[in-house]
Amino acid sequence: MRDDFSSDTIRKLGERVNLHCSNPKCRAPTKSAHETDDKAANVGKACHIHAAAAGGARYDSAQTAAERRSIHNGIWLCSNCGALIDSDPARFPASLLRAWKALAEHEAREQIGKPALIGAASGRPRVELTLDYKKTLIMGELHRYALVVVLKNIGTKRVDDWYIEVEVPGLVVQEPGTVIGTKVEARSKGTTWLFRTRVGNTANAGARRVLLAGDEYEYGFPYRMDKAIFDRNRHDNLGLFEQMAKARAFVAGELVTEAARPFGELQCF
Ligand SMILES: [Zn+2]
Repeated sequence: MRDDFSSDTIRKLGERVNLHCSNPKCRAPTKSAHETDDKAANVGKACHIHAAAAGGARYDSAQTAAERRSIHNGIWLCSNCGALIDSDPARFPASLLRAWKALAEHEAREQIGKPALIGAASGRPRVELTLDYKKTLIMGELHRYALVVVLKNIGTKRVDDWYIEVEVPGLVVQEPGTVIGTKVEARSKGTTWLFRTRVGNTANAGARRVLLAGDEYEYGFPYRMDKAIFDRNRHDNLGLFEQMAKARAFVAGELVTEAARPFGELQCF
């Protein structure tokens, strides 16, 4: 007995994320025109966060049939990502899928009605921002990492008035003094801390940093995971791994792009 979604729920799950795959590393469009005039091609599907039937990925026997087929138990993914999350469920827990869903819906909300290429039509600067991490020191139960934020000028104009903001779980920030950028106290709330680079500057005070077309700037942000943080997260149920780490790029005071990933993807403790 499978608790499948209704066609209405399937349609809404897709529409809520503008028919893009909800995996933040993918975002593939899932619908297109079909060669037959009255059809659409589809590579998207409404996937179960907790499986529709016993034995399936992340099956939760405590759910009722109604909960299992409810829109809250679904996420829109492309067929590749849909197969991936079910083939290795331990790597893709329900908490991570919920974080993906929330982020995809947030992005769709931010983008609705806006031109696809910000700046392209108006001749304004265009930049691309990526968010990743690297290990800097792994010593037993102490892991030190750097958040790698890369801002690339993908337009044809030079960019000389810019800054980056980074939002991270405060729990993992190490030695704030070593961080490039300044903690913005007024916007660091609860468990999320916000840091900002100097406008157009590197760590070298006074060195004005201009991004010519094709140039990129890498912002390294140190943080750590250790046994104490891991235990505290579990004991106090802080949801650290589902918390979003975000980077935002501002050019001429205007938010132009944002990248976000659940903290769980930015560590390997
Ligand atoms: Zn996908």
